[in-house]
Amino acid sequence: MGTMTKFVEASISLSLAKIESLGRFANGPKMLEYLGLPDGWWCGLELSRAKIFGEEVSGDVDLIAGPMVYDFDQGEWIDRISAAVETHGDRNAIAMAHMRAGQEGRVVWPPPIESVVACEAKASYLKNGVLKRTHVAERHEILGQLKYLREHGVNRLGFVHLVSTVPIGESGDAWLSAETQLQFVEGELREVLRLDDLPGVGLFRGYMGAVPGGTEDVAGVHWGMIQAAPELLCPATPLSWHDDLGARLARLPRPSELRTYIFECPDCGEWTHAPILPLLGFHCRCGRAL
Ligand SMILES: [Zn+2]
Repeated sequence: MGTMTKFVEASISLSLAKIESLGRFANGPKMLEYLGLPDGWWCGLELSRAKIFGEEVSGDVDLIAGPMVYDFDQGEWIDRISAAVETHGDRNAIAMAHMRAGQEGRVVWPPPIESVVACEAKASYLKNGVLKRTHVAERHEILGQLKYLREHGVNRLGFVHLVSTVPIGESGDAWLSAETQLQFVEGELREVLRLDDLPGVGLFRGYMGAVPGGTEDVAGVHWGMIQAAPELLCPATPLSWHDDLGARLARLPRPSELRTYIFECPDCGEWTHAPILPLLGFHCRCGRAL
């Protein structure tokens, strides 16, 4: 399963999977904004490379995303917001305009696939003063994943490193201990993972200093996220795998919102989508809980 589940090794009371952490702690929408998607997007989480690129290859892509749009122009969008202001007032106008457009089936589906962005993620944890999973092999693995995506013509690319620390010290100084541990992690990461040899790839780092009695995603010291913004690696242009990806997305029902997350069922491999995280209560068509 996902990298974040390996945090369990550190005996942290972790209840979230990596996909949720990417969406919640790491602030998925903010990361997608840095990846060049400030408005509408579809965002695949841990989809298999074989299904995305149509190749006989193992492994998955932690995050792959592209723009999602309405089938009307900017002028109509402004008219729609004006109409929503009349009915609902300034405060909720934009949200209501989005809701109405989605309910009217105005989201273009399948989405246009001329531009695709991606992000790989790794998770590490600090325990007994040692930062786990940051050896040289890990660095090669990460660079290999990013190079694969770059060679396939992904337009923008990012890497996110999530690091958690195990609580130390008495509860009274737990917050201070967490802060001190994060300062140590910051220094270590500077040595371990540099992306100098992949210019233009964005770098995100999220730190979670856990305190006793809470999970690191909600209770503790948080640092992050952006270290270097992802640059445009290549212009949007049609690629051989875009058609197959578009066809695969076309098999899913049209989303009723301009932002949607796409998941792959670990049992049957089918894709499904949901507008929000976490996925509590969502099931694949085969019955598997996601
Ligand atoms: Zn399934």
